[in-house]
Amino acid sequence: MTDKVIQYSIVVPLYNEELVVKETYKRLKSVMDSTGENYEIIFVNDGSRDKTAVITKEICDRDKKIKFISFSRNFGHQLAITAGMDNSSGNAVVVIDADLQDPPEVILKMIEKWKEGYEVVYGQRAKRKGETFFKKLTARIFYRMLNSMTDIDIPVDTGDFRLIDRKVCDALKTVPERNRYVRGLISWLGFKQIGVQFIREERFAGETKYPLKKMVEFATDAITSFSYKPLKLAMYSGSIISIISFVYLIFVIIQKLFTNGIVAGWTSLVALMLFFNGVILMILGIMGEYIGRIYDEAKGRPLYIIGEKKGF
Ligand code: UDP
Ligand code: MG
Repeated sequence: MTDKVIQYSIVVPLYNEELVVKETYKRLKSVMDSTGENYEIIFVNDGSRDKTAVITKEICDRDKKIKFISFSRNFGHQLAITAGMDNSSGNAVVVIDADLQDPPEVILKMIEKWKEGYEVVYGQRAKRKGETFFKKLTARIFYRMLNSMTDIDIPVDTGDFRLIDRKVCDALKTVPERNRYVRGLISWLGFKQIGVQFIREERFAGETKYPLKKMVEFATDAITSFSYKPLKLAMYSGSIISIISFVYLIFVIIQKLFTNGIVAGWTSLVALMLFFNGVILMILGIMGEYIGRIYDEAKGRPLYIIGEKKGF
């Protein structure tokens, strides 16, 4: 029985999802049972502080198809997904959020496309329900900005909800990057890709685990992982400002030599100083973002630490 080939692996990251995990299990189970093929569901507990782990372990005890991985602390959504993929053995791997915003029924459509020969089938959000205007607006701007900044084609309005072929999963394991933007990495890998449109539902229960701070970090990871444009922008703006300053310098010297008008310039001096200091600090900050990431890579620490595993 155990040597029966696993066709599908479903990876579900969990961070403080005690209110949703049972319902997610039920919905996923009924969808996956309807395929009539063998599958596993891998729940990855990303250092939850609530009862998520206890509840998930109970489910795992009752159902042999359920596997459970628990991190030693919170490592973040992208690493939870990575751990799930690393430990999966299905011929196709599906990553889905725990909160039922990604409807499990869409998996069946993804499987259809996979059977047609596509190696990556990503879910594309045609509409987002029950999210704040701010979240929708920032997400919209972010995906488009990222796209214009990178050379690889990362499809807009897609999350991590997607199906990937075993080949893609194995290829992803060879990418050791730490500050991971998984959906971008999957685009970078190439392979035959297609989107499936779906309507993003409201969260089943609980609240978002992506407050503004995490959203900003996530966006910075995405941009710095795939683009040097912020650095180039720093260089270009620096060059332009230097040229303008040089022209102004000549102007000031001529004024000093050939006119006797004394410039009463305290205010403008202060204004210029503040402006240029601001620009310099901003550019240093941009460089810092990249240097910090180099530092992370140089340390070569493991991506995540598993505290407990069950059902494997
Ligand atoms: N998540 C995680 N670790 C984190 C934050 C989130 O594993 O540090 C999981 C969370 O449990 C959920 C998924 O990532 O399954 C997406 O999070 P959420 O639904 O809160 O994000 P949103 O849909 O609001 O962008
Ligand atoms: Mg969500």
